[in-house]
Amino acid sequence: MDLFDIPNPKLPILGSDKRFPVHRIYCIGRNYADHVREMGGEPDRVPPVYFLKPADSIVPGGGEVSYPPRTGDLHYEMELVVALGEGGRDIRAEDALQHVFGYAVGVDLTRRDLQAAAKTTSGPWDTAKSFEQAAPVSAIRPATDGGHPTVGRIWAAVNGDTRQDADLGDMIWKVPEAIADLSTLYELRAGDLLFTGTPAGVGAIVPGDRLDGGVAGVGEISISIIS
Ligand code: MN
Repeated sequence: MDLFDIPNPKLPILGSDKRFPVHRIYCIGRNYADHVREMGGEPDRVPPVYFLKPADSIVPGGGEVSYPPRTGDLHYEMELVVALGEGGRDIRAEDALQHVFGYAVGVDLTRRDLQAAAKTTSGPWDTAKSFEQAAPVSAIRPATDGGHPTVGRIWAAVNGDTRQDADLGDMIWKVPEAIADLSTLYELRAGDLLFTGTPAGVGAIVPGDRLDGGVAGVGEISISIIS
């Protein structure tokens, strides 16, 4: 592809011909108590953990995802994704939802073996979380259409077998709190996405597997892992 023809990453928007231009992808780790426990942590004492994925790691609308290199333990994490329509610094939690354009369903694909190795050496998570196609994201449902979900089912199934089945209400850091906290670390901008963490039930997927998932009132996503 010609250097000057490389497109910016964009996501479809339900009910619109416009496409959402992705600026940054922020992610929260350890945001559901049962997932913190399954990863060997203690939820009550853990402040929010953030990491980023490159904007061009989105897979708009899902679809085929190539199994990434240098891992033997690729994990899915189904998550509610917040899409910001307005940025800012030091946003107050009570004002945070005014900055939200809409919501989507995303998969935080993770090279779990590389993450485990990074934890052992107290090294960064970048290679575990940031790679090509690491962030499949559904179409965005505008908040003007679907509102701001605070409760509702979040689920994931591998080859039709339900693996994650939880409720958004179980999030430790709620969306307004997370936006407020994150905005004290970064200047948020329109076009930013925020992956809000995953509930228990994460696991490995391999070439040939199909992952389906969704968030009630927001949408669904499906990906197929190819070699
Ligand atoms: Mn995650």
